[in-house]
Amino acid sequence: QKRNTMHPATPKGIMTLLKHYAIDVKGMDCVIVGRSNIVGFPVARLLMDEGATITVCHRQTKDLASHTRQADVLVVASGKPHLITKDMVKKGAIIIDVGVNRVDGKLMGDVDFDDLKDIASYITPVPKGVGPMTINALLENTYELYLSHIKQ
Ligand code: NAP
Repeated sequence: QKRNTMHPATPKGIMTLLKHYAIDVKGMDCVIVGRSNIVGFPVARLLMDEGATITVCHRQTKDLASHTRQADVLVVASGKPHLITKDMVKKGAIIIDVGVNRVDGKLMGDVDFDDLKDIASYITPVPKGVGPMTINALLENTYELYLSHIKQ
């Protein structure tokens, strides 16, 4: 069932990105690493609304790799630099790296991009992946709120 509410910027940006590349998640196994209120939990809800089957992992998850290896779509929002490596992902997976970590003055995602870029069918870089989509969604939300305000 579709709900008509305003969504947090990062999950909304991720959904826009998937739509842009015509990726229909219906029936796909989507694994989300992280369950925060601003990323992991709402992106799980939005993907489920689109017909995906959802697994949400967190720090108490017993065997993270056993879940991530099942993912058709893997969304990683853990805040742990390079948590996800090649051995944890199946060939052809779609990988969305939300993480932004500063390590030795350099920005780094939660996914080891170089390790994974040849086995993923799609993979977002850090920086210049999910970050700009978040800014885009934030501006959309602001504009939609403005429109709903002037309509009142
Ligand atoms: P958060 O509130 O710290 O949540 C992190 C989540 O990851 C928690 O649910 C935590 O589990 C889980 N986690 C941490 N280590 C894990 C591990 N080793 N295995 C499995 N799960 C683990 O962080 P957040 O606000 O969601 O942000 C996550 C990352 O995304 C950060 O790097 C942040 O900077 C970045 N971010 C980027 C954007 C963007 O626009 N690109 C926007 C927002 C956030 P527990 O719940 O068990 O603690």
